[in-house]
Amino acid sequence: MAWDFTTEPEFEEKLDWMLRFVGEEIYPLETLNLNHKILLKAIAPLQAQVKAQGLWAAYLPPELGGAGFGQVKLALMHEILGRSVYAPLVFGNNAPDSGNVELLANGVATTKDENMKKRWLLPLLEGQLRSGFSMTEPETAGSDPMLIATTARRDGDEWVINGHKWFTTNGSIADFLIVMALSSPEAEPRRRFSMFIVPVDTQGVNIVRDVPTLENPTSNSSKEHFGYFGAHSEIRYDNVRIPSENLIGREGDGFLLAQQRLGPGRIHHCMRWLGQARRAFDMLCERAVSRFVHGSVLSEKQGIQNWIADSLAEMTSARLLTLYAAWKIDREGPAGARVEIAMIKYHGAGVLYNVIDRAIQVHGALGFSSDLPLEAMYRAARAARIYDGPDEVHKITVAKRVLRQYTPSEIPTEHIPTRQASAKIKFAKLLEETSADS
Ligand SMILES: Cc1cc2nc3c(=O)[nH]c(=O)nc-3n(C[C@H](O)[C@H](O)[C@H](O)COP(=O)(O)OP(=O)(O)OC[C@H]3O[C@@H](n4cnc5c(N)ncnc54)[C@H](O)[C@@H]3O)c2cc1C
Repeated sequence: MAWDFTTEPEFEEKLDWMLRFVGEEIYPLETLNLNHKILLKAIAPLQAQVKAQGLWAAYLPPELGGAGFGQVKLALMHEILGRSVYAPLVFGNNAPDSGNVELLANGVATTKDENMKKRWLLPLLEGQLRSGFSMTEPETAGSDPMLIATTARRDGDEWVINGHKWFTTNGSIADFLIVMALSSPEAEPRRRFSMFIVPVDTQGVNIVRDVPTLENPTSNSSKEHFGYFGAHSEIRYDNVRIPSENLIGREGDGFLLAQQRLGPGRIHHCMRWLGQARRAFDMLCERAVSRFVHGSVLSEKQGIQNWIADSLAEMTSARLLTLYAAWKIDREGPAGARVEIAMIKYHGAGVLYNVIDRAIQVHGALGFSSDLPLEAMYRAARAARIYDGPDEVHKITVAKRVLRQYTPSEIPTEHIPTRQASAKIKFAKLLEETSADS
């Protein structure tokens, strides 16, 4: 079967425009350390240009206002957007909002709830609202969602939510949160959880803090970066009452919705990592041809040439694997591409990390300093091996699916003495004739 990642010339022109636009209009914003409010003001005119180009929220089908490009084209777009942390926001493609739009769209497709579409889905899609996705809890292992302890209890026309979440990205700047909670403890395990829309101003929603992280380190007592784009919030839900219409999809759909959201969401991360890795690689190569040490520029040292060769090979393998997974999603849907999505999640995260690490090394002290974006990229890249499922969990998915194709064999199928015995029987006549000849 032919794999085809080609796109038409008109689309190539759009990609060229994106590359120029990201470099000229978005890169400069990175240096200004803007808070969320000012950032939104700064990017509004840029978002208008993206909309005019027909490139806004391109991941969505046309009936929801997206360009309906499919995953392969999206991969090529995200590769450019991934270069800058703000670019996905400018293009209406930023996590967690993009995943939440898809989640709400799936919920609305089930219930045909026009009110949910108008009140939450469309404003989120337009960038008028911001959202968070509140699933992980400090007390239970996020890798095993069956352990989620946050509860949702039905009380007349309302749901009452109680629980403790953390790492809700953008929680402190969100207008509403999508909360996963145990709603039907008696149901079969995969139907026990539901998802709910919880507006942040509902009584009982307590955004405790933005958790200081490797990406945004501050002292534990500080709220210094509270309210910044991309921070990860700890949230307590204490007797939070929401109307029954805030249930997304049907009761018990939580698991299904999470799967639908995380499949494409994961590969979008991988696509963006290609762009991050490329930016680090460009810095690596530029420094290699510029820095003079021990009689020559760094690019003439074999060790540095090895890094460049290894990085390019690793980036190319990640790119092809990402495009292949995207192509497979376009043909078979996310469920058909589960192994490929899982593979690129851990492989891509590793490649990103390695390339940034080498780029830092080639810059020496400058690479370690905040005078270059590399150190921030490195800190953010470490999280890629954890969020949306840690490496180990994706490797389990891949290994389990692969192993389904194998049956136990007491004697290995390739055992040469055993094969030789069979071969001797199979070719007995020939062997007899040839031994008589010799
Ligand atoms: C930057 C960032 C952003 C995030 N954003 C969000 C968000 O917006 N919303 C949200 O709900 N969550 C978010 N998360 C949380 C993320 O989804 C969880 O961290 C992740 O699912 C892992 O859960 P955990 O942290 O509880 O680790 P645990 O589940 O406790 O796992 C810890 C470690 O155990 C190992 N492990 C786990 N299972 C196995 C296994 N079966 N076999 C072998 N080893 C295993 C892995 O090495 C894993 O890293 C974010 C996390 C980060 C770092």
